[in-house]
Amino acid sequence: MTMGEQIRISAKTLAEVAMPGFCPRCFWIKRKVPKQLPYQSFPGIFSSIDAYSKRVVHSRFDKGQGPPVWFRGLGELVSYIDPPHYSKFKIIDEDTDILLTGSPDGVFVRADGSHVIVDYKTSRYTPYQGHLYPLYEAQLNAYALIGERCGLSPVSALALIYTEPVTDEATAAEDRVHREDGFAMEFVANIVDVKLDPGIISPLLATAREICDLDSVPKGRYGCKNCGLLDDLLELIGT
Ligand code: SF4
Repeated sequence: MTMGEQIRISAKTLAEVAMPGFCPRCFWIKRKVPKQLPYQSFPGIFSSIDAYSKRVVHSRFDKGQGPPVWFRGLGELVSYIDPPHYSKFKIIDEDTDILLTGSPDGVFVRADGSHVIVDYKTSRYTPYQGHLYPLYEAQLNAYALIGERCGLSPVSALALIYTEPVTDEATAAEDRVHREDGFAMEFVANIVDVKLDPGIISPLLATAREICDLDSVPKGRYGCKNCGLLDDLLELIGT
């Protein structure tokens, strides 16, 4: 098969390929349908909280206080870098002619000059979140791969920062959370190290290229009933 034209894939999208339940059919459909499919929207409040977490951390450095105490697992950090925009944070993979783009949540500089790339997750760290590890591992390693060629070399560590809202009754009754204009919500943070291994990205790019070059929709995930339901629906309405 000859390779199609150059394709652009974000680190987040490419990371889907790394999931054990990855469905080539879903991936192909999402690439071919330029508009957003139903049930693809993501509540904006989570992005707002992630952005707030970032501001909380950066404000410590800006005030000369160094990293927050709960960052202790990330090594000796001396400063942060404003995360690069995806329009600048990109590389072309020569083997697949894929333009790989990314937009890391946070970048910190260690005392030895190396970089730590992090991703904020507003969520409890539950066993389900553990199932998503391959997704986040691929996303962060794609950032590391791009970073090595786009001004963040060397990258020495990757991490997920889970910020979990404190919602128990005792905290809700504390005077400090009650304000004249509303109330405050507190968060606890958990840091999960992610293995630095940018070598995992090349096979993902090859798979993505292979699927995108298919002329017709590939088979769906084994055992997934939803495509069967769609077929039933189309038959019912006589399409
Ligand atoms: S098999 Fe399931 S996951 Fe794959 S395209 Fe169909 S509905 Fe989506």
